[in-house]
Amino acid sequence: MSGKADIALIGLAVMGQNLILNMDEKGFVVCAYNRTVSKVQDFLNNEAKGTKVIGADSLKDMVDKLKMPRKIMLLVKAGNAVDDFIGQLVPLLSPGDVIIDGGNSEYQDTSRRCDELEKLGLLFVGSGVSGGEEGARHGPSLMPGGHAAAWPLIQPIFQAICAKADGEPCCEWVGDAGAGHFVKMVHNGIEYGDMQLICEAYHLMQCLGLTPQQMSDVFGQWNGEELDSFLIEITRDILKYRDAGGHLLERIRDTAGQKGTGKWTAIAALQYGVPVTLIGEAVFSRCLSALKDERVQASTVLAGPAQNSCTVDMKKFLNSLKHALYCAKIVSYAQGFMLMREAASENKWSLNYGGIALMWRGGCIIRSVFLGNIKDAYTRQPKLSNLLLDDFFRRAIAEGQESWREVVAKAFLWGIPVPALSTALSFYDGYRTAKLPANLLQAQRDYFGAHTYELLGKEGQFHHTNWTGT
Ligand code: NAP
Repeated sequence: MSGKADIALIGLAVMGQNLILNMDEKGFVVCAYNRTVSKVQDFLNNEAKGTKVIGADSLKDMVDKLKMPRKIMLLVKAGNAVDDFIGQLVPLLSPGDVIIDGGNSEYQDTSRRCDELEKLGLLFVGSGVSGGEEGARHGPSLMPGGHAAAWPLIQPIFQAICAKADGEPCCEWVGDAGAGHFVKMVHNGIEYGDMQLICEAYHLMQCLGLTPQQMSDVFGQWNGEELDSFLIEITRDILKYRDAGGHLLERIRDTAGQKGTGKWTAIAALQYGVPVTLIGEAVFSRCLSALKDERVQASTVLAGPAQNSCTVDMKKFLNSLKHALYCAKIVSYAQGFMLMREAASENKWSLNYGGIALMWRGGCIIRSVFLGNIKDAYTRQPKLSNLLLDDFFRRAIAEGQESWREVVAKAFLWGIPVPALSTALSFYDGYRTAKLPANLLQAQRDYFGAHTYELLGKEGQFHHTNWTGT
């Protein structure tokens, strides 16, 4: 039996099982293992029945069944479970063997694990895996990073099992250390932003009095245009879904959950000093939604605008709403790519931004036609400093901005919260403003804290003024 399997996969929950079946389908022999060992036999007798998948009843048994150099992929709960398995595997492995963590690990943990394992001669890869259960089974977006020497060893498997967009694999080597998990984290943050923008459009449509079927039709129409994406498509389907009680969506409690990767992106943005405002607002919006009881109480006492009916030329406004969503989405991705640039510069990763857009183009939750436009932008200018400056996106915002401003202004007048649509607009206006009021801010800092300021045209020289003359 020795040297039989191409790869081992540890973790037989939803992601692990589906990824194993995907690898099996692409011709690889996979050895399955799980902490609760009884699940291995269950899997072989049920989901994996009739496949080439083999099982192991201990880590030693699993390691002995692998071809050299061994490739072992973990799909277990992020955190201690990953360190525990690494600790148990190390004494069983040989120099040059590869451990891949496909869970949603924090990128700093991945960098630490890379360093620790490098000292032992082992190759470590932290790979983002996106697309949920469906993606894992039929083609996820994969974002591997870590020890570059591992890439040629795992590339044939990864590029065989991943999604394809226009025939190209949605998987490329991302970079050193925690780069793969960092890019996956930003992907998840962008997912938060996209979902929030769609929710704000839905809220405005409700205010306009559209029925669920009418809203579904609008999203269906948008899905055939520049907003064509997985999230718009499922929103169309969710809106029209009915069960015995009518439209299910209307009976779902309006409190959003979160698992933390959006929050990590916002924290990373603050740590790197990059204004990723839209993702930040998307995370805070979920927090606000969770305050259901407080909101219900506040709704009975806090006043809003006197005018509570939203009267507009419906067709025109819906078209403006589409432009607003599109413009804000451009800003959100521009901010996400700004964050990746800054992290890449600080960590000395050489990220391929066009390649990242291509990786997200298929297989994952944010897959869209739009990501093809981003890929094209980086193909035109690989060193593009900001997506907003690319001709395609610059023109799109120039054409859509009047509509975007109208939607945000109307929402404010009607008292409808649009934190993502509006923060994106404020960012856009700030980014295109040559002279911001931060001169006053510097003066205030100098006044109360002697923090000094620079004069225009004399950068690099710092001055302090005794503002009170005393
Ligand atoms: P999960 O519920 O996150 O984790 C379950 C697996 O982890 C089981 O194999 C479990 O073993 C093992 N495990 C849990 N605690 C452990 C510990 N202390 N020590 C050793 N093993 C432990 O599974 P999942 O949803 O399939 O996700 C796997 C990974 O992929 C996670 O990092 C997740 O964040 C990431 N991910 C998930 C999705 C998704 O849509 N679900 C999408 C992308 C990425 P037992 O059976 O013995 O309990």
